Amino acid sequence: MDIRKETASLLERLGVKAELLSGGDMPVFSPVTGERTADLTTIPAAKAREVIAGAHQAFNAWRMVPAPRRGELVRLLGEELRAAKADLGRLVSIEVGKIESEGQGEVQEMIDICDFAVGLSRQLYGLTIATERPGHRMMETWHPLGVVGVITAFNFPVAVWSWNTALALVCGNAVVWKPSEKTPLTALACKAIFERAAKRLGDVPASLLSVLIGDRAVGEVLVDDEKVALVSATGSTRMGREVGPRLAKRFARSILELGGNNAGIVCPSADLDMALRAIAFGAIGTAGQRCTSLRRLFVHESVYDDLVPRLKRAYESVSVGNPLETNALVGPLIDKAAFDSMQRALGTAREKGGAVTGGARVETPHTDAYYVKPALVEMPRQVAPVTEETFAPILYVMKYSDFDRALADHNAVGAGLSSSIFTRDIRESERFLGPDGSDCGIANVNIGTSGAEIGGAFGGEKETGGGRESGSDAWKAYMRRATNTVNYSSALPLAQGVSFDID
Ligand code: NAD
Repeated sequence: MDIRKETASLLERLGVKAELLSGGDMPVFSPVTGERTADLTTIPAAKAREVIAGAHQAFNAWRMVPAPRRGELVRLLGEELRAAKADLGRLVSIEVGKIESEGQGEVQEMIDICDFAVGLSRQLYGLTIATERPGHRMMETWHPLGVVGVITAFNFPVAVWSWNTALALVCGNAVVWKPSEKTPLTALACKAIFERAAKRLGDVPASLLSVLIGDRAVGEVLVDDEKVALVSATGSTRMGREVGPRLAKRFARSILELGGNNAGIVCPSADLDMALRAIAFGAIGTAGQRCTSLRRLFVHESVYDDLVPRLKRAYESVSVGNPLETNALVGPLIDKAAFDSMQRALGTAREKGGAVTGGARVETPHTDAYYVKPALVEMPRQVAPVTEETFAPILYVMKYSDFDRALADHNAVGAGLSSSIFTRDIRESERFLGPDGSDCGIANVNIGTSGAEIGGAFGGEKETGGGRESGSDAWKAYMRRATNTVNYSSALPLAQGVSFDID
């Protein structure tokens, strides 16, 4: 296959102009073969600021459009995504190396959030609040916020954008998107898809959605620009440590969606067949490159010798290969840096007494593509590198005998994104979900750590950044809340009985 040609023809079908794809300073590679697929042009900082100013003008107009009409734009976006699903999903597979069903699944997630946001466009409810003063009414209203900056990671190149954008648009905001420099082509495709939806609606302000092509320097422009009211930034905890304080310094809002170091606990009563499948998908799926990938597993000593050998067999037999040409379940790592960090982590784990199954490079004709066998590492205890996120398919497995100790170890890492318990004992599962249980933003029972639906609020605590996106009431972060008190009486009673008579 000629991946460069296929990429160009997919982009053409999706509506991206060919002239954007060559002659630029930013090479784009496919991890599937390691080949270069395009050369895009990075936007200079001054031009990026102009784009943001344009977005601010778009916001001024868009905020006055009734929310259900804003929802109609998102409904049309969902329709366009349905029409583009096969091509966009394939492009995700080319750009990230996801297997076909995961590439298609990512686009399905975009469609799902559009449907959710359309409903939301008629449900941006505020409260009516009891007031202590006679003849008064108190309520809260929700207003559009401003320009929303969206910074995304390579591993969910389009879904995370759509979570933010579908909500931001119905909430009355304009969006400026800085996609990962590793996956900018899918961003250009999304922009073209959005333009089609906007054209169908008509009278959509220009620059309601803009895409800034570039690396972190362009991201920094977005973070520092006073016209950007909220930055939703998805990526590593390192990135969040830089972005968070910069936003705080200018009192801008942030939604930080950072690294995870997700764990599962397998209890004595667990359904081991079910646990096995959930663990395998969570740890091996997407080549361990999900923020919610399962990375640590605590297995009770009574079931360890039953479960772990079966898991090891699954690891040894899982198919690794080109996701565009085979039915392999595991595609490539994103690049050489990811491969190197995986090998470094495995080396350190061995030094700390870890017994490694898998983890070796799988040779292919493409020397610049990095395919690996997923690694299962039996560790004597939880020490570095187990306590850190390595963005690769490594599962550290540890034996436990005491539930309280396992729970303490579960929580004893910096990240707090996703977690699971496998048990049929309600005392264990309720404890895990309770106030002294899992300290993560996502806590599951008898399903794995990855594969969330859009209906729930998505995000995590501690070094994961505390942000929430997608479903539930995550929309509130994209709006400005005003508390309104209306006096319809002829007196002016002051709250708390304060008297202040000036005559
Ligand atoms: P990354 O941190 O290298 O880059 C993410 C994005 O941030 C890119 O667009 C990059 O250009 C930008 N960026 C980096 N430094 C910046 C700075 N100082 N200012 C502004 N922008 C900056 O992450 P990655 O390698 O693309 O993605 C993998 C990481 O993302 C993992 O840690 C993973 O757990 C995390 N992730 C988290 C979530 C979540 O929802 N919590 C979802 C997906 C990925």
